[in-house]
Amino acid sequence: PLLILTVIVGLLAGLACYRLLGRPGSPRAILRRALEARQFEPFLQPIVRAGDGHWIGAEVLMRWHLPGEGLIRPDLFIPMAEQTGQILPMTRDLMQQVAEVLAPHAAELPPHCHIGFNISAAHCSDPQLLEDCRNFLAAFPSGSIELWLELTERELIEPTEASDLLFQQLSSLGVKVAIDDFGIGHASLNYLQRFTVDALKIDQSFVKRIGADTLSAHLLDTLVALATKLDIDLVAEGVETAAQRDYLRALRVRYLQGYYFGRPMPIREFMPALRQHRNA
Ligand code: C2E
Ligand code: CA
Ligand code: CA
Ligand code: CA
Repeated sequence: PLLILTVIVGLLAGLACYRLLGRPGSPRAILRRALEARQFEPFLQPIVRAGDGHWIGAEVLMRWHLPGEGLIRPDLFIPMAEQTGQILPMTRDLMQQVAEVLAPHAAELPPHCHIGFNISAAHCSDPQLLEDCRNFLAAFPSGSIELWLELTERELIEPTEASDLLFQQLSSLGVKVAIDDFGIGHASLNYLQRFTVDALKIDQSFVKRIGADTLSAHLLDTLVALATKLDIDLVAEGVETAAQRDYLRALRVRYLQGYYFGRPMPIREFMPALRQHRNA
């Protein structure tokens, strides 16, 4: 069944690619050309402190600005980027773009501004990731940025000596690790310990069901209790209503993210939006 699934996913990615691009070249070559043309752009979505709603930073979400097609959502091209290995240079470029735009405004950012990037399993065996993070942090005055890497629970990596070393080095650099989409995959306690995970991002499906059924309420309570016990920070994403915010706040989830607070925006709009939020 796994093989069939892999084949189907591969075919779907190929089909999406064909439909999206309708031009010649391997997916790898197409993505590389798009990267050279700087068509991958960072969008930023605010992350807020649950207690007072203040922005503490943002998650960086990739968009593909394909001429003639508009903005393409990451679900459609990230799998292709992962399969072809292009995700590594694409993420590097994304980090450079974010540093270029935000570094000149470092003094205006929230203190220890939280900037989160999504990384893929392939990054976890790429020693260059350490260098990319170091370069990103070096672009800002020391201590002004807290760099977070979000690793999805859907594709947990097999820990190896190399990945242990990489995560140790990232940790000495001050880089934090979050497990994304937490609750729908299969991260074990063991896993959380091995990677010295700093935060869990509660999957949106839990937030969506707040108020809808008691089972998910219990699951949410359990996640919070677990995280508290392990001294791991919690971020809830997909917060769309005041009722969800109130519920999560009462549960003492520390950070929130979702359309209720702000949608992902082109990076050029981030500083103006931050100023507006401050003055509101
Ligand atoms: P994710 O990391 O779980 O990111 C959260 C997704 O939820 C984003 O979708 C965001 O726009 C959306 N979202 C945020 N708040 C709300 C809300 O209140 N309601 C609803 N319904 N949705 C909300 P997006 O930007 O389409 O990204 C989809 C996924 O693509 C991400 O899920 C992430 O797994 C992946 N992705 C995005 N950028 C990158 C990247 O640079 N590298 C990698 N490897 N993956 C990325
Ligand atoms: Ca994420
Ligand atoms: Ca997520
Ligand atoms: Ca997700």
